[in-house]
Amino acid sequence: MTDSLHLVCPNCQAVNRVPSMRLAQHPNCGKCHQPIFNGKPLELTAATFQSHILNNDIPILLDFWAPWCGPCKMMAPAFVQAVVILEPRVRLAKVDTDSEQGLGNQYVIRSIPTLVLFKGGKELARQSGAMGVQDIVKWVNIHK
Ligand SMILES: [Zn+2]
Repeated sequence: MTDSLHLVCPNCQAVNRVPSMRLAQHPNCGKCHQPIFNGKPLELTAATFQSHILNNDIPILLDFWAPWCGPCKMMAPAFVQAVVILEPRVRLAKVDTDSEQGLGNQYVIRSIPTLVLFKGGKELARQSGAMGVQDIVKWVNIHK
């Protein structure tokens, strides 16, 4: 366990180095001064995806979804609640597979919603189908 963690800013994508002990104290980005954890799922695009997958020292949970998908909409509030519970130990982000079809193809997303958990650029686990907030948190804690 290191004394500091690399965290990618959700606002400007700068890679911050945050002391572990400051993680829970709402750290701000050194570059843009916005909160590194803002209580909301991050919306990832092809332009920002790689940096967040590769440069975060904490696990990142992705929700692959689409605007037309009923179960995705059902799960969306649970995913937002899971952010509040899991931050700052885990980053939560969403990938719209309609506007980001390249990412959906690259990660072979066959059904949505699909949750995929990454750490250090490696896929740890994935799960398809809508889940409630408790199940999301439990599933992440088992696999991270
Ligand atoms: Zn920033």
